[in-house]
Amino acid sequence: MPRIIPISAHTQPPPALLRVAQEDLQGPLLDQRQRPLRDLRISVTDRCNFRCTYCMPKEVFGKDYAFLAQSELLSFEEIVQIARVFVERGVNKIRLTGGEPLLRKHLDVLIGMLKQLTDAGGKPITLALTTNGALLTKKAVQLKEAGLDRLTVSLDALDDGIFKTLNDVDFPVQEVLDGIQAAHEAGFEKIKINMVVKRGVNDQEVVPMARYFKDSPHILRFIEYMDVGNSNGWKLDEVLPAELLLQGLAEAGMPVTPLAAHHTSETASRWQHQGGGEIGLISSVSHAFCSQCSRARLSTQGKLYTCLFANEGVDLRAILRDPDKQNSSEEMGLLLRQTLHATWHARTDRYSEMRAENTHFPTQERRKIEMSYIGG
Ligand code: SF4
Repeated sequence: MPRIIPISAHTQPPPALLRVAQEDLQGPLLDQRQRPLRDLRISVTDRCNFRCTYCMPKEVFGKDYAFLAQSELLSFEEIVQIARVFVERGVNKIRLTGGEPLLRKHLDVLIGMLKQLTDAGGKPITLALTTNGALLTKKAVQLKEAGLDRLTVSLDALDDGIFKTLNDVDFPVQEVLDGIQAAHEAGFEKIKINMVVKRGVNDQEVVPMARYFKDSPHILRFIEYMDVGNSNGWKLDEVLPAELLLQGLAEAGMPVTPLAAHHTSETASRWQHQGGGEIGLISSVSHAFCSQCSRARLSTQGKLYTCLFANEGVDLRAILRDPDKQNSSEEMGLLLRQTLHATWHARTDRYSEMRAENTHFPTQERRKIEMSYIGG
């Protein structure tokens, strides 16, 4: 079980926090590699209605799995209280994830609350959400009306049999495609479609997916299969490196050319089909992008993680849920700011770089937080 650093408000904050001077608690926040804090991913539930074999395999997340009780989840008010402190220090984009975020009741209310936050320049923050699309037909209009800006849908195959094998709950692909169409009609013009490519499982779907989305307004992104968490039994030879994927597209008559990045911390490299749409490659195994990584992750229970492959989190919820109610909201706010500052400032994460540098890197031995708990 990953170790949690308790920061209970009514005990003396650790010295590291006390050394954070008030004047340091404002402006952009940089880590030990001068990477600014810009993106916050918030997991709003640890539950999912799929059992994707590379993320939440049934063998581990079976019917007896103890998911978090509602009372353990951050409330919407607590999420906004924490998010506000991140936005003050430079976050301008928040992504809602899970598990499957659309399973969290009244999510549109949270979206409306988060949309009130403005970044350092006074601009409303950008609010995005990643979903498996199963509930999208029902929820798309509500999400758009609540103020959601961007949508990403995970879709790992067009072939119904392969899709059902991967989601492992027999969910038909057509319903996700209908959800994407409904979201487009609701006003999400350019939807990102994330396909995790696992060699020997769905790599034969790369070309059909590219053909299907080539002339659509949506951006298909191919994600190299990663050793996230401890449950998917990851092997390096099940990864289809970006170069081979691009070669496969070219051999299928769909060569692509590179496009410039939108900004330095973009996770996907951008490519363009001849006369067609855009695709993206998220290649953290063959092309680690830790040097520009500006992403923090907040778990469903309010723990701060500074890397997808972290095994330690910082408990921010304990600051807000001070059992003895000794701290005023100002003191809680200050402790949140000090904790965020100290945690990000001390950050040196570079897991994917280390994996790339050392072919014997202990990917399986190292305990890591589950992706379904902190979102991709
Ligand atoms: S491995 Fe960690 S530090 Fe590197 S890009 Fe991924 S989340 Fe960022």
